[in-house]
Amino acid sequence: MLSTMQDVPLTVARILEHGATVHGASTVATWNGERAVHRSFAEVGARAAQLAHALRDELGVTGDQRVATLMWNNTEHQEAYLAIPSMGAILHTLNLRLPAPQLAFVINHAADHVIIANGSVLPLLVPLLPQLNPTLRHIVVSGEGDRSLLAGFTGGVHDYEELIAGRPTSFPFRHDLDERSAASLCYTSGTTGDPKGVLYSHRSVYLHSMQVISAESFGFTGRTKALPVVPMFHVNAWGIPYAAFMVGTSLLMPDRFLQPKPLATMITAERPTFSGAVPTIWSGLLDELDHGTGYDTSSLTQVVIGGSACPPALMQAFRDRHQIEVIHAWGMTETSPLGSVAHPPAGLTPEGEWPYRLTQGRFPASVQARVIGPDGSAMPHDGVAEGELEVRGPWIAAAYYNGAGNEPDAGGDKFSADGWLRTGDIGTLSADGYLTLTDRAKDVIKSGGEWISSVALENELMAHPDVLEAAVVGVPDEKWGERPLATVVLRPGAEADMAALRDFLGERVARWQLPERWAVTESVPKTSVGKFDKKVIRATYAAGGLDVTELGKQ
Ligand code: AMP
Repeated sequence: MLSTMQDVPLTVARILEHGATVHGASTVATWNGERAVHRSFAEVGARAAQLAHALRDELGVTGDQRVATLMWNNTEHQEAYLAIPSMGAILHTLNLRLPAPQLAFVINHAADHVIIANGSVLPLLVPLLPQLNPTLRHIVVSGEGDRSLLAGFTGGVHDYEELIAGRPTSFPFRHDLDERSAASLCYTSGTTGDPKGVLYSHRSVYLHSMQVISAESFGFTGRTKALPVVPMFHVNAWGIPYAAFMVGTSLLMPDRFLQPKPLATMITAERPTFSGAVPTIWSGLLDELDHGTGYDTSSLTQVVIGGSACPPALMQAFRDRHQIEVIHAWGMTETSPLGSVAHPPAGLTPEGEWPYRLTQGRFPASVQARVIGPDGSAMPHDGVAEGELEVRGPWIAAAYYNGAGNEPDAGGDKFSADGWLRTGDIGTLSADGYLTLTDRAKDVIKSGGEWISSVALENELMAHPDVLEAAVVGVPDEKWGERPLATVVLRPGAEADMAALRDFLGERVARWQLPERWAVTESVPKTSVGKFDKKVIRATYAAGGLDVTELGKQ
């Protein structure tokens, strides 16, 4: 028997309408290098309507055509986030840190009709133009930048402000869409092979936003002021832009000012209560807060770190030296991205809470998780048995986008026979649902039949006061098959040498796990979304490009 309840589609248009009216006084502010420029949700809603008119009436965007953004986190990007899905088109967020061939690939694969680009990133786009499909008809430029760079483009070139100016401030947004239809498209960073597109639905965006605002996730309310440092081109900035419009959370957008100094300055000036970013951003900020003067971060009550394992030393330093409690979270492009969030259970002392904070956290009711052992069977949730994490739920991908008009790409071995997403992450689940990841399946080091967690070694090394960053990879070894290689970035003025670091590590991990190959490097190579790029470290080592010192070879 069917229920007697109303069947109202869950749409981005509803989020836009609600935020722009009920929470019309909340604000989106963009940092311009010196100060924040504010616009109310009501204004953002009106400008989103003007943008939708411009896209439909002037640029001819119809149906579910793709409109791409090549933008930093800023107010105009927020307007695009709301306008494009709400008019029934598909928002395709382009990762401006992708290598040029991959960027051209995703624009062509998605068959983007329009690209809205920040003027400051035009130099990235211009060299790609000869490789782009004729499907791309218009480029809209927002903010400062040299428009003449686009002189060779045969389609239309428009200025964002001129394009939307004077148009009606309301639009017949689509509240009637099938909630399962596509709202936005985000490609995974593509560590191997071509990037793969994840096509979020209106329903998945809506339900995910409700999860983001929940107190067991990011706990957004109308009193929250969020600083999304995580880019809007990476998994919808963890869903923050949509969640904010649902409850009136004001947004502080950092634009291109993502370096530690401007971040510390904007936090001091604008006093956000929430922020989220990958660990590399936070470790840069920590250094600035430790050594700079005049900063005040006391407004930050919730700081989420995710996207890579958060080194415990980083969490401890924020807590002890800056009174900021870090929340660790796990997710991926395919999971929208939430994901598990490490809020500790009730009734514990701060010391008792600590081990829970170090885990990747618990999943919400909507997302089921299991770990699958090497023999393909589900492992017990006992906090000990390791396996590959698999998840399923209403905002988890079931397939990849395969280009317009085609059947979805089944993703090869990325999905199990019974439809769960295989994450490629290795870890354990406890009886009370806490996930602890030990490694990526492809990064775990297999030494003489035993597994060594590269993440565990990195975490210990990064707890040394002289170490800024440390990345550990498996490299071929004649005797053991594979052994760990430690690459370390030292802090300026550091006194420790590699032998001292090995001794330090020797006091903390089993002897057989101790790396015997060591290299001090200037920096750790990063992927387009700021994670350690271990593929590059392995390749550099294989090509003889690392100055390796051997210590205590087994
Ligand atoms: P992406 O799709 O680029 O966001 O990458 C997703 C991957 O990032 C996951 O499959 C994990 O390997 C990694 N990741 C994300 N969050 C965490 C975390 N808290 N701890 C460890 N790894 C993480």
